[in-house]
Amino acid sequence: MEIVSLSGDLWMNGERADVVVVGGGAIGLAVARALAAAGVERTVVLDMEPAVGQGSTARANGGVRAQFTTPINVAFSTYSIAEFERLAREHGDLLGFHQVGYLFVTAIEDGEAQLRAAMDLQRSLGVDTEWLTPEEIGRKAPLLRLDGLRGGTFHARDGFLDPHGAVQAFRAECPPDRVSIRTGDEVTGLRPRGRSIVVATTGGDLEADWVVDAAGPHAGEVAAMLGVDIPVQPVRRNLAFVRVSDEPPGLIPMCIDADTGVLVRRELGGGYLIAYSNPDDPPGWDTSLDPRFLEDLSRLIGNRFPTLRDVPIDPRQCWAGLYPETPDHHAIVGPAEEHERFIVCAGFGGHGLMHAPAAGTAVAELITEGRCSTFDLHPLRASRFREGDLVIESAVL
Ligand SMILES: Cc1cc2nc3c(=O)[nH]c(=O)nc-3n(C[C@H](O)[C@H](O)[C@H](O)COP(=O)(O)OP(=O)(O)OC[C@H]3O[C@@H](n4cnc5c(N)ncnc54)[C@H](O)[C@@H]3O)c2cc1C
Repeated sequence: MEIVSLSGDLWMNGERADVVVVGGGAIGLAVARALAAAGVERTVVLDMEPAVGQGSTARANGGVRAQFTTPINVAFSTYSIAEFERLAREHGDLLGFHQVGYLFVTAIEDGEAQLRAAMDLQRSLGVDTEWLTPEEIGRKAPLLRLDGLRGGTFHARDGFLDPHGAVQAFRAECPPDRVSIRTGDEVTGLRPRGRSIVVATTGGDLEADWVVDAAGPHAGEVAAMLGVDIPVQPVRRNLAFVRVSDEPPGLIPMCIDADTGVLVRRELGGGYLIAYSNPDDPPGWDTSLDPRFLEDLSRLIGNRFPTLRDVPIDPRQCWAGLYPETPDHHAIVGPAEEHERFIVCAGFGGHGLMHAPAAGTAVAELITEGRCSTFDLHPLRASRFREGDLVIESAVL
């Protein structure tokens, strides 16, 4: 077990923390650094893996976008994009943040109506999403087939970053005298003791005033240790990397064929990263490459990316990981109904990396101020599932 703390021996030996964060992925580390910035003196981050950022975070595509369809997701994005821009300025190349934009295109009347409605919402919230004609689309992304396209939406401050770099940047902003990061330490039980929570781990027990559940796809299991019920489920998602001979140089926007759901971006060193999320994929823990992903791609990719249609995909250059999913494709951020000092920060699906800065700030405000002032967290409250009051995000990739 690695314990990263320079001056924390006293409180570590006392095994008491103000806040225990379960999970050292993008979310857990973003929460820990925000807690430290808000003045919390003793935060312990626990992760069962030998290093931080080895869960879903390590498998992500790195996409960052403000083009969502609900106000809360747009708000989390705009806040986080500004924070990534600051991190990129302060940490240089570490973050690998490339604001090449996201480009959604469609050839379908209903698709156009949906993209325009989303654009109107985004613009009403201060996001400069633009409508592009097929000619403008062709200039931004020459690999797209333009025939029949009605147009698409583009937001220039969207882009992609390096998930590992984001983890390192968040970690670099966790001061070691305030945040202790313990890896190789699995949380095995939680039980209330007065107003505190006792956290049983493979490295020993801890007592904390607050526990934050940032366990990604495992968040439901961690919550269940305290008798808390949250509908976070693991769903396998896949990515493929291909190289094409005679590729035009330079980056392109993250291109989304909204009519099929296929997503393509160019890698820095050349080659393309391809994603597709089959909405019918069942929940499960398997993280081996799904053969059905390759079948889906061979059927769908030619629709808008003809140069990639006949390129053989080498399964050794593909990988899969888990989305921590919820039924309405929104995260759960807030206290559990069953225990007000157990804060859930999980269920971010395919946008946990890009929303990590906002999530961190939201949780830090809940703990240090008793309420979140930066965001209206009502749509993300844990009770919405029991109440049957869900707001569905439809731009799910
Ligand atoms: C193929 C793929 C592509 C993706 N693309 C994007 C993208 O482009 N943009 C984007 O924003 N998001 C993307 N995502 C989603 C993103 O990866 C997740 O939403 C995000 O990583 C969730 O972060 P997290 O910190 O909640 O979870 P994780 O990174 O899984 O971190 C949770 C941590 O909790 C630890 N843990 C769990 N249980 C315990 C326990 N009992 N005790 C101690 N530690 C525990 C785990 O070891 C893990 O490190 C993608 C995901 C996949 C799989």
